[in-house]
Formats: sequence, C-alpha cells, structure tokens
Amino acid sequence: MLDLAALTKLLAHPRKIVITTHHKPDGDAMGSSLGLYNYLIQQGHHAKVITPTDYPDFLAWLPGNGDVMIYTDHTEEAAAIVAEAELIFCLDFNTLSRINELGELVRASSAVKIMIDHHLEPEDFDDYRHWDINACATAQLVYDFIVNELHNKALINKDVATCLYTGIMTDSASFRLPNTTSAVHRIAADLIDLGAVNWRIHELVYSNSSESRLRFLGYCLSEKLEVLHEFNTAIISVTKQELEKYDVVTGDTEGIVNYALSITGIRLAAFIVGRTDMVKLSLRSRGEFPANEICKKYFNGGGHRNAAGGTSTDSLDEVINQFKLILPEYKKLLIQ
Ligand code: 5GP
Ligand code: MN
Repeated sequence: MLDLAALTKLLAHPRKIVITTHHKPDGDAMGSSLGLYNYLIQQGHHAKVITPTDYPDFLAWLPGNGDVMIYTDHTEEAAAIVAEAELIFCLDFNTLSRINELGELVRASSAVKIMIDHHLEPEDFDDYRHWDINACATAQLVYDFIVNELHNKALINKDVATCLYTGIMTDSASFRLPNTTSAVHRIAADLIDLGAVNWRIHELVYSNSSESRLRFLGYCLSEKLEVLHEFNTAIISVTKQELEKYDVVTGDTEGIVNYALSITGIRLAAFIVGRTDMVKLSLRSRGEFPANEICKKYFNGGGHRNAAGGTSTDSLDEVINQFKLILPEYKKLLIQ
C-alpha cells in the first residue's frame, strides 16, 4: 500500500499513466476517466484512457474522447501501453474481472495501481484506494481526490468540470437517487461555476436518441413489459433478434429498466436481454431491496443495492424462468 504523500510525490513528475474503467462504460465511467485525464494532462503526464470495450455515442462528445483507446479495437497497442505504464488508475470498478482481458494485463503490470470507486466489496489488487460506497458517482470521488487529497482545485478547468459533472449527473440518475446529498449538489454547483454547462450536458446525454432507439423503447414498453403484481416486480425481456430488428447499438438499452421500476408499487425491475454470447440482466430496486444480492447469488454479478447486474450462459427463456423462481424467496421484502 502507498500513502497519499508517496502518491503525491509520484505525481509531481510527468509519468506514463493509464486510466481504465469497467467494460461497456457508462456516463460515470467515461466522465470520471476523462475528468481525471483532462486534469493529469495539464501537469505534463502522458495519460491514456483505455476502455475494455466500446461505449455509447451519447458520450462521444466528452472532452478528450478523441484520445480514448478501445482495447478490443487495439489489443496489441493497448497491451503495450499498459505494460509500460508507471501508474494505472482504475475508475468506477473494483474487481479486475469487470475489465475483461485487460484485467490480467493490469494484474501483471508492475505499475502503481490506484482505485477510485464506489462499489461494494473491492478486490485487493490496488496500491492506493480512494473508495466510498456512499458516493453517488466515481466522478464525485475524482473531484474529492483532486480537491481534498491533491489540493489542486485550480486545475479543474472547463473540460475537467464538464466530464465530472457528466459522471455525477448520470450516476445519480439526474440528481434523483437517494445518495444525491446536499454535498453532491454543492459539488455540482461548484462544477457549474468552474465551467460545466449543466443544461447543455443534460441535452447532449439525454436528448440525443436515434429514432430507432425511441421506437425500440416504445416496443419494449408496449409489447415486452410483464408485471408480476404478486411480487411487485416488473420484467422487460428482449431477444437477440429483437435487438437486431431495431438496430440496437451500445447504449440504446440503458435506462429502459427504470421505466419498469417507475410503475407505482413496483419494488424490483429487471431488464433481461439475450446478447450474442450470453444473457445480461440489469436489476433496479427500491428501498432496502438488495438487487445486488440476487445478481451475486444467481447471476455471476453484483453492484449496488438498488442497481445491479449480472450475466448467464443459459438461454434467455431459462434465465427469465430462473429469475421468476427466485422471487418467492424474496416475497416478504417485495410486498412489505
Ligand atoms: P447495469 O444494469 O447498468 O448494467 O449495471 C448497474 C450496476 O450493476 C453497475 O453500476 C455495476 O455496479 C453493477 N453491475 C452490472 N453488471 C455487473 C456484473 O456483471 N458484475 C458486477 N459485479 N457488477 C455488475
Ligand atoms: Mn459509477
């Protein structure tokens, strides 16, 4: 383990730095990574954001996006950059399995590894950790790291502020979730003062749908929504063929599960999708219901109490059935 003084000393000279984040990066993954990137490059560091996979187009406007390397598109080049890195920042994830093949490269690297994250149960692979499960977003922790640990608020320029605001806005579901404390609003206000144009960021992220995405959403809501009143649970499931029919691309399915959860009385919502090589589940819940427990116990996954995910190699129909068979175990929590 490294202490803050040692890390500060390391960062006092230009370093070769890799920043990486979880596969299928979301707004917080990209916002926190590019926020940190835009901070580090001002100090002369050679920083590179490497994502394990591609990410939605509605994040491609983020400052610094042009310099992001997608591992699956540049495996050899990315592996060489990871091997040469002196520091590796691991943002918005805490187990190396969340970054696919990159995980073993990071594990094998002799670089100093810094974890900045807000998920439960971190794996022990890091040398320095800025971790808080109460943070609404990793971007909030990156802000805290820069301001309160590195004491370098002066380097939060418009680009850094824009990226961090995006991370906080998306992971708090537009300042809606219970972890959106007054402190989060103060940070958001600060980021606006530092150059983040809040209304424009909202527009770029949320009013940036393709026509086919909107039609796909309509189809999911009118044809694919199943409400299990007995368990206060709603499921939306889609097949691989349906994804193809609607030209669904990365990011298009994001947020659909929240519509199922928005039905009055519903405490658990599942979006279950048949992808090419596996079935992916996204669960959302209200209050004390532990969506992450179901994902961890039954679907090789995990996450937060109210937002979790997992995968299965069984068929889509089997996974839907398995999910339904689990509900009686949680009936008390679901109907209280
Ligand atoms: P989503 O439903 O948006 O894919 O994921 C919601 C949250 O669940 C993510 O922020 C992440 O914390 C967690 N999550 C999603 N998929 C997985 C997974 O396969 N494994 C683990 N450990 N967590 C996941
Ligand atoms: Mn996050």
